Formats: sequence, C-alpha cells, structure tokens
Amino acid sequence: MTNSHANRVAVVTGASSGIGEAAARRLAASGASVALIARRADRLETLAKEIEAGGGTALVLAVDVADAAAMRAAAAEVEAKLGRADLLFNNAGVMLAAPIDELATEDWQRMIDVNLTGLMNAIGAFVPHLVASAAEKGVADLVNTSSIGAQAVFPSFAVYVASKAYVTHLSKNLRADLGPKGVRVAAIEPGLVETELQGHVTDAGALQWLDGVRESLTWLKPEDIAETVAFLTSLPARVNLQQVTVMPTAQV
Ligand code: NDP
Repeated sequence: MTNSHANRVAVVTGASSGIGEAAARRLAASGASVALIARRADRLETLAKEIEAGGGTALVLAVDVADAAAMRAAAAEVEAKLGRADLLFNNAGVMLAAPIDELATEDWQRMIDVNLTGLMNAIGAFVPHLVASAAEKGVADLVNTSSIGAQAVFPSFAVYVASKAYVTHLSKNLRADLGPKGVRVAAIEPGLVETELQGHVTDAGALQWLDGVRESLTWLKPEDIAETVAFLTSLPARVNLQQVTVMPTAQV
C-alpha cells in the first residue's frame, strides 16, 4: 500500500458499514487520518480500534447526518482533533422501495432526510474546510456517492433513484463553484454492491428482484468502491474525474 494519502484528513459519512466502512479503512491504510461518521457508535468504535491497531488515526463521530447542528459540531471537532478536512466522502444513504401508489410516505421522507438533507448537511459543514484546505495544501476532494439508479429506471425504487439523480446533478454543478477554488468534485455511481443497503428493503416485489439479481450475477464488493475513492483522490490535483460508474461486470 502506498502512502498516497499521507497528511490528508478524510471525513467519511456512512462509515459504520458497507462502502463507507471499506473506504475509511482504505484511506487510512494509505495514510489519511479519518473521521468516521454514522449513527452506530459501536460499529465506528470497532473500526477506529482496527485502524489505530494498524498504526492509523481515526476519530469517531456518532452523528445523524440529518441533524445539521450536529454535523456542524462534528466539523468543529474534526478541525480541533485532526485538522481541517481536505477530503469528504459524502456517502451515507438509505434505499427503501415500494410501488408509488402504496404511499409509503415515511420511507420517502427517510430517504429525503438522509440522501438529500444529510448529503447537504455534510456539504454545509465541511465545504469551508475543503475550500481552505485547497488554498493551503493545493488539494481537496468532495466525493459524493450516487448510484447507477441516477441514470436508469427501476420499478418501485422511484424516490431512491430520484434522490441519486439529485446527487449526480448536484455534483456536476458544484464543480462550477468549487473547481475554480481548487476543490475536485466527483460523483461515483455504483451498480450492485453487496452491503447492508438491501437489508432495509421490505417490499416483496423489490425483494424478489434483488434475490434474482443476486443469484444471476456476481455483485461488487465494498472494497471495489473504496479503491475507486482512493484512486480519484490520489490523482494529481489538476485531474478531476467528474463522474465514475462502477458496475459489476455482468450487470446490464
Ligand atoms: P450500508 O447500508 O451498508 O451503509 C449505509 C451507511 O449509511 C451506514 O454506515 C449507515 O450508518 C449510514 N447512515 C444511514 N442513515 C444515516 C444517518 N441518518 N446518519 C448517519 N449515517 C447514516 O449501504 P452501502 O454501503 O451500500 O451504502 C453507501 C452508499 O452507497 C449509499 O449512499 C447508497 O445509496 C450507495 N449505493 C449503494 C449501492 C449498493 O448496491 N449497495 C449501489 C449504489 C449506491 P448507521 O446506520 O450506523 O447510521
């Protein structure tokens, strides 16, 4: 493992499982100090201990991304304990499914609270860090986790995929604001990744579809997306991969 992220301070939301956990582990392995954000403190503590046992630095922040004040307090704690963040992997998300006429309004709201409001709260809390870091260190990264769903149609997943279309289009537009200030902005659009994400789905039709695609093809591992994050954020500062789609080879 190279030291490509030495002297970098990375904030990872959704670090308690799946893609975020793998990305935090990967960035720490190449030298970044990592701030771990999610709600399940026990899972974050376990990961932090593992990172520290390997000689890395990790800060646990058990925060709900939907809470804007708590996210601002987290940003202050990162600055005080690790220094200003120069990498935000804005990744926390939730995926729920149901045909739209079932009016699962609480699920809609949950996805909006995490995938949209939570994403914006992280941006609101950490963009000042990124802009200042870019000026000071010459590099800073905002990497948002979108989904292949942003570009596709998946029956029963309309609210989820629309939330991810927001992430992709927001990322593209944020480049116009932040690129000239030296902050790279990227959206990663993964296809199917084996994580806890699908475990929250209760709709019978959606579960049947997920079971079918699980049997018919080999899904990505969280580490595959973590490697993508590490790659994007270790390129020369002049290079910004704006949008990266990472698919299981057999997923069409
Ligand atoms: P996981 O369910 O394994 O991880 C989701 C993470 O988000 C957890 O760490 C969870 O932590 C965190 N999270 C959820 N709600 C909140 C909240 N309110 N506040 C803080 N953290 C929260 O799924 P993935 O790793 O797959 O998901 C990561 C991202 O990847 C998501 O944005 C997802 O939409 C996206 N994605 C996933 C794909 C897949 O096939 N798996 C495909 C395309 C995109 P906790 O519960 O402890 O708060």
